[in-house]
Amino acid sequence: MVPKINLIQAKSIFTKSGLPGSDWVINPYNGCLFGCMYCYAAQIARWRHPDEIWGTYLDVKINAPELLKEELEKLKKRLKTKNFGSVFFSSVTDPYVGLEVKYQLTRKCLEVLADFGYEGNVSIQTKSPLVTKDIDVLKRLKDVAVGFTVTTLDDKVSRFLEVMAPTVSSRIQALQELHKAGIPTYAFIGPILPHFTSDEGKISELLDKLQEVGVKEVWFEHINLSPKIKARLYDFLGKEAPELIPEFEKADTEEYREKLEGVVHKAMRGRGLKMGLGKVIHHRKLPKKRI
Ligand code: SF4
Repeated sequence: MVPKINLIQAKSIFTKSGLPGSDWVINPYNGCLFGCMYCYAAQIARWRHPDEIWGTYLDVKINAPELLKEELEKLKKRLKTKNFGSVFFSSVTDPYVGLEVKYQLTRKCLEVLADFGYEGNVSIQTKSPLVTKDIDVLKRLKDVAVGFTVTTLDDKVSRFLEVMAPTVSSRIQALQELHKAGIPTYAFIGPILPHFTSDEGKISELLDKLQEVGVKEVWFEHINLSPKIKARLYDFLGKEAPELIPEFEKADTEEYREKLEGVVHKAMRGRGLKMGLGKVIHHRKLPKKRI
């Protein structure tokens, strides 16, 4: 299916974040063409596109850099500082979705932050090695980190569930390149994939590889099986691998989470890696059920 690209004028770009660990969020795009099957943003970002399929549309906020400049200046005047807290790229898109090559909105927003002399932390999380094209701008920021979402080390698994995203091996290479360039990096193991990545051996293997390429901080996240995410994911699994549905279903209990958290903490022990927020994050409370 040919994706639908909409050029739009955003009304705001530097917005308060509802995500743990960040104060502000910048989304140069709305929608994401990587189309991951577990994507939580699919339900948040689709208010503009209630009838369209996630992964088939992208809103390009063509005025994002100019708007960001205006909003930063206004906040500086009001708050008398160049540090308004931590800034995160992005919550309802991947900031390096392929069309960044054409529109360069993430790059231009980073340039605006660098020119402004932004003093807070700027964190970029992506699945795309395209971020490496911006190492020159990243180096101009006072406090920056680039994170890659890494849910498996197996390209076949990443291709299966992160359908149009760059393969995980290319992400690992990009982490290494950023590290060599002196950019602090982190990894986001989220969601921890039931069946594929949830045992201690797989998590340890992943952590070994991440440490090998210079990662010093790792974030973990439980899979979010809210009704809307589940409907989309199970529809896909029902067609492609129905035997996996019971495996994912098991992950939707407090007991599973507790057990998995034990596994994660054990795998992290003694590595000298920082754990984002010191815990495996989750986005919804679950009922107690027997596994
Ligand atoms: S890359 Fe991120 S925003 Fe894009 S589809 Fe995947 S999980 Fe969603």
